[in-house]
Amino acid sequence: MPDTKRYIKAWKVYKNNKRIFIVLLLCFYPVLEWVVRPIYIYYGKDLILHIYGLAWIIFIVVYSTKIVTFTCPRCGKYFSEKWHGYFIGYLGFRLNKCVYCGLPQWSLGDQNDAYENS
Ligand SMILES: [Zn+2]
Repeated sequence: MPDTKRYIKAWKVYKNNKRIFIVLLLCFYPVLEWVVRPIYIYYGKDLILHIYGLAWIIFIVVYSTKIVTFTCPRCGKYFSEKWHGYFIGYLGFRLNKCVYCGLPQWSLGDQNDAYENS
């Protein structure tokens, strides 16, 4: 079933982007304390702190944008295009269906099967 494979591939990309975003979010402070701060103390230059902060912000913006602009595998439109989708359904934690065609999150199309949400 090529259609099912397309759905699985889309959901896999979506899930990976969400995971990367969560890891980035959770790792900011530990990486800052255990990696960046010792480098800063050793070299005594502020530049490493600025580079780390800027890189973190860029990655957060890139991955949150990837998640929010995820296109529905069935209709091809943004899964959560509306602004409430950006804030309330942000990252798909609360948004459980496409705002256009109503495709449930992790659905494999018209079948009752669903991509494993693990
Ligand atoms: Zn849709």
